[in-house]
Amino acid sequence: MVNVMFVDSQVWDACSDALITFDKDGMEDMGYVVENDVIITALTQQLSSMSDRVEVLYRSKAVGYTWPAPYHNGEGSPWVQIDLAGGQKIHTRLLIGADGQNSMVRSAAGMRSVQWSYNHVAVVATLHLSEPTDNNVAWQRFLPSGPIALLPLSDTCSSLVWSTSPENASHLLNMDEESFVDAVNSAFWSNEGYSDLISSAESILRTAVSYLMPTGTSTRQLPPSVSKVESSSRAAFPLGMAHATEYIRHRVALIGDAAHRVHPLAGQGVNMGFGDAACLAQHLSKAAFIGQDLGSTKHLLQYETERQRHNLPLMAAIDLLKRLYNTKQPPIVLLRTLGLQATNAFPPMKEQIIAFASK
Ligand SMILES: Cc1cc2nc3c(=O)[nH]c(=O)nc-3n(C[C@H](O)[C@H](O)[C@H](O)COP(=O)(O)OP(=O)(O)OC[C@H]3O[C@@H](n4cnc5c(N)ncnc54)[C@H](O)[C@@H]3O)c2cc1C
Repeated sequence: MVNVMFVDSQVWDACSDALITFDKDGMEDMGYVVENDVIITALTQQLSSMSDRVEVLYRSKAVGYTWPAPYHNGEGSPWVQIDLAGGQKIHTRLLIGADGQNSMVRSAAGMRSVQWSYNHVAVVATLHLSEPTDNNVAWQRFLPSGPIALLPLSDTCSSLVWSTSPENASHLLNMDEESFVDAVNSAFWSNEGYSDLISSAESILRTAVSYLMPTGTSTRQLPPSVSKVESSSRAAFPLGMAHATEYIRHRVALIGDAAHRVHPLAGQGVNMGFGDAACLAQHLSKAAFIGQDLGSTKHLLQYETERQRHNLPLMAAIDLLKRLYNTKQPPIVLLRTLGLQATNAFPPMKEQIIAFASK
């Protein structure tokens, strides 16, 4: 089980030498890579320690919801009723929909979601490095076909997230392990897609920046090479973007991917969900403290406003980045190259980006 802190991050473009680095100057760390099993174990332990107050129904599935008046003008319970597959019925003042991107809570409540597919698939895998390193850098390269990222897991292993076309994803999943390793190494190291024109413009800007701001340029670090893919670790996930137009209604709140889904290029999906959970818990605690109904829209609206203010700009930025790096139009490629290099030269901007993403 792995829980790794990383201290640097390097993002670079395949068509030029433009890059941006985020390092730990002034910070304890840049971020953490935490395996899902570690999070699940920690949550399970936490839940066990409060078993006198919390009952967890493992291996059960919600199959239907009945809403209280005024939404369905139903008679009976004034609370939400949850029907479980085993026939059990639960009544609650507040139903929290944390049931992922295809949320049944969201659709059953009639909450609309704006969504689109990127027509991209993320291929994930656990990779073994050719030699042990400190492995404390998160790497991401924007290839013309989509971003490829290598996130540290240990001194010898990293996690791969490679977003690409569905055809290439299926090719990557079906190729033998040796060819897959070659494809990963080539994606990080190859100069295919390199543009002399864009690169010259970037080089002029870099020279000007190094003259005006000697600390404003970064030396490109080389990513580690990969020697092996963990057997059976390859998997693929279709990628898209979605945002629920409402996060709350009377007696219902959505959190996590049920409310929003983003491209993994910024590694923000879980963080946004954690942010929702923390914010909702804070508003519910306040409401409970003064004896208010937990399912009332009064404080749920505060949760919705606070989280939409945070999530929407972040989602827009991630979507913009995805589109910016998906285009091959030379003027836009040139602009993004210069923009990346200029951002890299301006530490306050990088600090703002880190501060916003880690909220
Ligand atoms: C390839 C890829 C890489 C990613 N990398 C990162 C990353 O590096 N960092 C990051 O922060 N995020 C990342 N994400 C995003 C992250 O995986 C999601 O944001 C996160 O898993 C959402 O968590 P969630 O609990 O809201 O939803 P989910 O993880 O989808 O969980 C929903 C749960 O609800 C359960 N459920 C659904 N319906 C019912 C029902 N009717 N009854 C009972 N249970 C039900 C499901 O079984 C599931 O367990 C990545 C995503 C992808 C696809």
